[in-house]
Amino acid sequence: MKLDFCPSCARIVLRGFGYCPYCGAALRAGPGFEEALREPFERLAGMQADFRGRKIGELLLELETLEAEIDEIVRALSPDDGERSPAPLPR
Ligand SMILES: [Zn+2]
Repeated sequence: MKLDFCPSCARIVLRGFGYCPYCGAALRAGPGFEEALREPFERLAGMQADFRGRKIGELLLELETLEAEIDEIVRALSPDDGERSPAPLPR
C-alpha cells in the first residue's frame, strides 16, 4: 500500500488519490512516505552515533577518575606511607 503526505494538511493519504480526503487539497505526486521519512531517519541515526561516541568518551574519562581514586585508596591502605619509590626488581 503506497502512502503519501498531503502537502496541505500533512496527513497521510493513499497514493493515487486526486484530492486529500481530509482537507480537500489537490494532490500531486510528491516524494512518497518512505522517501520523505528516509532523510530524517538517517539524520537521527547519525545523531545517535554521535551520542554514543560522546557517551563512550565520558565513560572513559569517568573510568580514568575511578582508577586514580582506586590508586589513592590502595596507596592509603598499603602498610608503607606510599611515598617510597617502587620496589626494585629482584635480580
Ligand atoms: Zn490534506
